[in-house]
Parts: sequence; structure tokens; C-alpha cells
Amino acid sequence: MENKKIKPLEQKAREWLEQRGVTIQHITELVYYLQSPYHENLEMEECKYNVERVLEKREVQNAILTGIQLDMLAEQKKLEEPLQTTIAIDESLYGVDEIIALSIINVYGSIGFTNYGYIDKQKPGILKKLNDKSSGECHTFLDDIVGAIAAAASSRLAHSQEE
Ligand code: MG
Repeated sequence: MENKKIKPLEQKAREWLEQRGVTIQHITELVYYLQSPYHENLEMEECKYNVERVLEKREVQNAILTGIQLDMLAEQKKLEEPLQTTIAIDESLYGVDEIIALSIINVYGSIGFTNYGYIDKQKPGILKKLNDKSSGECHTFLDDIVGAIAAAASSRLAHSQEE
């Protein structure tokens, strides 16, 4: 089942994540971070499986492409003001990055919100790197998107373990 044909939109979303320095392994580690306290003997492979399922969703792929596109344009200083500065400096009152992330969290129900809020505060693993403003890169949208994918995958995992 894992070697089924990946559709072009999903392919593009996966490529862009990778190009921006985010691997499936990174997101898998976030899911493990969120879920290992609640599941005895949780395996990385199961975390990865749930990340892969989340990435199959069209709304998730669209959120990835939209967010990364805006991050890249801001990095290249190609947006119009005042949006250029707002996104480039990741202004805290902007909030549209979090709204795009919500479209991902919504996919697997409301427990995703709790996971997202927690991981967004803690910023473990790749999220810390994406928030490092000294890099010169802009990940205003991507950090929320990656946190949201991990939160959605965690919800999916929790639901599937209950069944
Ligand atoms: Mg952000």
C-alpha cells in the first residue's frame, strides 16, 4: 500500500517541505514527542504511518503550498508592503499563519487543537530550528504548518489506538 502512486499535488507538497528543510522524519519525531507519554511501546513506524496519512489530504497539501509560497516570497522580498515586513519579521499579531494551520488541525477533530497549542509553546525538534530568526530564512507559515501536521497525525494516532 505504501508504494501507491503519489498524486502531483501531494508530490509537490512533499518536495517543497523537503526543500525548506523539513523531512518526514522531523515530523514523525514531533508526533512521537506528543504521543509517547500516552502510549506505551509507541513505535516511530506508527508515528510515521500517521504523518503519511495526513499528507495525503488535499487540504493539508494546499496549506503547505500556500504557506511555503508566502514564506519564499517574503524571503525574496517580493511581497508588497505592509505584508512584506509583517511576514518577514513574523509579526506576532498577524495570525493568518495560525489560521492556515487550523485548516490542517481540523481534519482529525478537536483534540488536534490541544496538541497544536502544546507543541507550538514547547517548540521541540525541527520547530526550534524553524523559529531561529538568525538564519535569514523566513518560516513564518511553515512552523505553524509543520506543528499542525504533527498535531493532526497525533490525533489520528490517538483515535486509531482507541478503536
Ligand atoms: Mg508562524
